[in-house]
Amino acid sequence: MRNFYWSGDPLRKGAALISWKTCCLPKDCGGLGLKNIFTLNRALLLRRCWDMVTGSSDSSIFLRDRFLKKNLDTFSYYQRSSIWTGLKKLWPTLVSNLRWQVGDGRSIHFWKDNWLGGSLVDSLNINPSFWPYLRDRVCDYIVQKRWVLPNEFLENFPEVSEDILKTEIPAIDMDDTVLWPTTSAGSLNTAAAYSFLTGPSTSLEWGKAIWHKAVQPRKSIVCWKVFHLKIMVDEVLQRRGKILCSQCSFCYYNVESVSHLFLNCPSLGELWTWLFDIFRLQRSVGLTL
Ligand SMILES: [Zn+2]
Repeated sequence: MRNFYWSGDPLRKGAALISWKTCCLPKDCGGLGLKNIFTLNRALLLRRCWDMVTGSSDSSIFLRDRFLKKNLDTFSYYQRSSIWTGLKKLWPTLVSNLRWQVGDGRSIHFWKDNWLGGSLVDSLNINPSFWPYLRDRVCDYIVQKRWVLPNEFLENFPEVSEDILKTEIPAIDMDDTVLWPTTSAGSLNTAAAYSFLTGPSTSLEWGKAIWHKAVQPRKSIVCWKVFHLKIMVDEVLQRRGKILCSQCSFCYYNVESVSHLFLNCPSLGELWTWLFDIFRLQRSVGLTL
């Protein structure tokens, strides 16, 4: 895909002006909105892991029964499987980011699982060497649908205790459920998995504008390169090692740089003033790209 974009031929490597990482950013963040195929593969695996936990299809139940112990623990011994080999790479990512919603509390590890916005071992800074001895389940602290915390715990961890006592216990018998914290619905789809794995990106002011449907795609691409300062003007060619004498083709005075050619060339002043008037825009003095 990269070859095709920069050279027009999938088999021929073209000179890439802009990194593939930038090309794969969302359009409003300065990219082309392309999907990175490796990240997409990981997103699909993460989504499959989620389905393993929450899905009710035959394949989800099969995978859950074969590869998971109760409470989302995995088997420590080797299991020959072409499916699990990929899934197990994303399994820790899924488990460490899940948030539990308390039902009967039997599936939730009291100390290690995230059911209060983070795990207790993290929020209480418990030394990892003690973790193997912390085997309590949330249900161990629920009696007749009410929280029952030991006095020592209440005295030593008053803030955490308050959070626990505020956590609602359902009045009816129901299983614990898992939520994905970064989506409003609490479930994970492939798009949410992809954006979770790529991380947050910063929106750029020009990001959306250049891809407006009223702008021809070819022009949008030119603008995209201009805003990345990667259009082949003399200054860029010089940086890439070409030895040439540069002179702006409009004013015959300055070096041909992106900022000069598209913004600050005095010969283009009238054009920009005309355009800014048409669109009723305020022109900033000393604007640079
Ligand atoms: Zn000029």
